[in-house]
Amino acid sequence: MSTDAPVADATDRLVIAIDGPSGSGKSSTSRGVAARLGLRYLDTGAMYRAVTWWMLDHGVDVSDAAAVAAHAEEPVVESGTDPLAPTISVDGVDVSVEIRGEAVNGAVSPVSAVPEVRARMLELQRAAAAEGGIVVEGRDIGSVVLPDAPVKVYLTADPEARAARRALEEGGSDVAATQASLLQRDAIDSTRATSPLVMADGAAHLDTTAHTLDEVIDQVVALARSVAAGEGP
Ligand code: C5P
Repeated sequence: MSTDAPVADATDRLVIAIDGPSGSGKSSTSRGVAARLGLRYLDTGAMYRAVTWWMLDHGVDVSDAAAVAAHAEEPVVESGTDPLAPTISVDGVDVSVEIRGEAVNGAVSPVSAVPEVRARMLELQRAAAAEGGIVVEGRDIGSVVLPDAPVKVYLTADPEARAARRALEEGGSDVAATQASLLQRDAIDSTRATSPLVMADGAAHLDTTAHTLDEVIDQVVALARSVAAGEGP
């Protein structure tokens, strides 16, 4: 990651929405862009994962949408927005490790499809972004949560590349099993009735398959700077 001089223009108030499927490079890119531009960072996937962990921990049947909906107001989710050390807690418990486990991987998409869960998260996400100066990553950020974000990016990559990256992040899990798990999540995320994964109007589409992380960060930083300088996307 290159180290630029601190930015003293309108970039420090920017809202940058970064969406895309699992393993497309959203988290690494979003954190890198936020660090480079001195912005906060919000991982909305971690919020849905934290709610899912809470449902499993409380014995809620996650395949029963009505049961999940009945408890949607209960978990207290808090996100720390430092891009160099993001945190996630639910009811005051740090769940940053637990939310990356198999149990949550398998249950997060059905829980995230429940409209009552989405309504609750939408409120928290908009509140976090209200004062600006933030990179927000997820599936529906540019389309639903922050449709007026001045910078919107939609990241994709080939399924093989996405699975390989995710398996590496997970400490060398089996690539084929990882690919099956993320494709299953993508299928649910893209076809659900409420806020499906789509490329938002006005989003810049970046295919990251053949690019290094630094190249992708450079492209998003350049886009953000041109928008902040009033040059448009
Ligand atoms: O980004 P990550 O892979 O951690 O997200 C986990 C899951 O959370 C996604 O597969 C999706 O079901 C859900 N999610 C969502 N909307 C978002 C972010 C994540 O539905 N904005």
